[in-house]
Amino acid sequence: MNGFSMAKLLDDKEERYKKQTEMIVLNKLPVISFTINKPGTEKNNEIIKNIFASGLKEIESVLSVNNIEIMDRYCSSDGLSGPIIILSINFNPNKIKEWMVDIENNHPIGRLLDIDVIDEQRGHISRINLGFEARKCLICNDYAKICSRSQRHDMGDVLKKFYNICFLYIEKQQEKT
Ligand SMILES: [Zn+2]
Repeated sequence: MNGFSMAKLLDDKEERYKKQTEMIVLNKLPVISFTINKPGTEKNNEIIKNIFASGLKEIESVLSVNNIEIMDRYCSSDGLSGPIIILSINFNPNKIKEWMVDIENNHPIGRLLDIDVIDEQRGHISRINLGFEARKCLICNDYAKICSRSQRHDMGDVLKKFYNICFLYIEKQQEKT
């Protein structure tokens, strides 16, 4: 990726961060901020949009089962940093985070989903503070942060693993229809 588009990617991320803060302050409610945890510099394409839509469906279904109303939403699907949705929720952010960790840990594409819960006082609600383990690496069983910091794995292998999980899931979905 050249310098120009890297700058644009950073602008896009900055824009999202602003949007999150704006919604938290304006609505005085916690938000769910959902993106795809995509390794590498290419953050958006049709496959990513496809699994993003599945992840969103799962989040909405968990909220609906628990009778939680979505008070406000911001959605952007074509940004350089990939699709994002921000949902304002009038409910206990720790409880919401527990449900979101459950999706990340147990849904077939959960490992590829990045579902943050943020509120005004506490900022990002942490998995660890709620008694859950930190997120694991896609390749080995170590913590993801340790592997990404030390660049332990070849990017080609990480991408291959990422797309394998996507394709397996998409295939299964197509079998069902
Ligand atoms: Zn690893």
